[in-house]
Amino acid sequence: EKAALAQFVGKETKTADGVKVELCANIGKPEDALKVVECDGEGIGLFRTEFLFMDRPQIPTEEEQFAAYKRVAETLEGKPVIIRTLDVGGDKEIPYLALEKEENPFLGFRAIRLCLKREDLYRPQLKALLRASAYGDIRIMVPMVTCLDELRAVKNMIAELKEELKAEGVAYDENIKVGIMIETPAASLMADVFAKEADFFSIGTNDLTGYTMAVDRGNAEVAYLYSAYNPAVLRSIERVIKAGRAEGIMVGMCGEAAADPLLAPLLISFGMNEFSVSATSILATRKGISLWTKEEADTVAAKAMSLTTEAEVEAYLKSVAKH
Ligand code: PEP
Ligand code: MG
Repeated sequence: EKAALAQFVGKETKTADGVKVELCANIGKPEDALKVVECDGEGIGLFRTEFLFMDRPQIPTEEEQFAAYKRVAETLEGKPVIIRTLDVGGDKEIPYLALEKEENPFLGFRAIRLCLKREDLYRPQLKALLRASAYGDIRIMVPMVTCLDELRAVKNMIAELKEELKAEGVAYDENIKVGIMIETPAASLMADVFAKEADFFSIGTNDLTGYTMAVDRGNAEVAYLYSAYNPAVLRSIERVIKAGRAEGIMVGMCGEAAADPLLAPLLISFGMNEFSVSATSILATRKGISLWTKEEADTVAAKAMSLTTEAEVEAYLKSVAKH
C-alpha cells in the first residue's frame, strides 16, 4: 500500500485524462507546515488559526501572529497558503475571551460574527496576515460567512489596513486574495452572489453537513443523519462548485469529505479545483483522483445525483469505487 502510493510522490494531481487540480493540506500549528511539504502537498488549503489563540493566557500579539504566518509562508516557498481568520465559538473555546455562555453556541456569537464586533481581536490578525503576505502566497479566508455584509466588512477593513501599512512603509501583497468558507446553508444558497465578490471558495463540509441536516455532529443520538452522502448536502456542494466555477473563481474543499475517495468522482465532475486534506491523506487522495476520467466521473455524478436517499447514494458510490 505504502509502496503503491510512493509512485505519486512529486507528481501533479490530475484525473486519468489529465484534468489538473490542486491538492493542499490542512494545518493547525505553524510547525505542521513542514509536514505538508514533506508529504508532497501543493500548498496549504486551511490553516486553522484558532490554535494560535488556544492554550495560552491572552490574545497573541500582532508580532507573534506575524511571525507564525511568515514562518508558514516561508516554509511553503511560494506555494499557496490559505489562512483562515479566527474561528472561535461553537465547539472551539478560548477561555480568556470570556465569552458569555450561550444556549445555542453553534447558532450564536462565533467566528466572523464575533471578529467583526471585536476589532481589537480582528485588526491585529488581519494586519499580521497582510505583513506576512510579503513573504509568500498568503490568501485570507473568512469562516462561517452567512451574508454578503460580512465579506464586505472584512474587505473594507483589509483596505484600511493596507492604507496604514502603505503609510508606514511596510511591505505587503497588494493583490492578496480574500475568500470565504462555504459552511452554512445561507452561503451555499447565495454562492452565485458571493462568487462575484469573493476571490475563492472553500467548502467546509464538516459544518455544512451539520447545518444542512440540522444535526449536532457530537450527538450520538442523531449522528446517523450526519453524512455528506445525504442528497441535500450533495446538492449544496454541487451548486457551490458550479456557481464558483461559473464566475471563474477557485473552488476548493477543506472539510473531511475532500479526502473521501467515494466522493472524488462527484467533486471532479462538478468542477472542483482544489482539495485540502490532512497531510497524511495527500498521496491517497492524489491516487484516488488519478483513477477517474472526467467522463467516468460525469456518469457517476449524474447517477448519484439522481438518487434520493443517503443509503442509496452510499451503496451506489461503493459499488462503483475504484482502488
Ligand atoms: C469545516 O467546517 O468543514 C471546516 C473545515 O472547518 P472546521 O472543521 O474547522 O469547523
Ligand atoms: Mg467549520
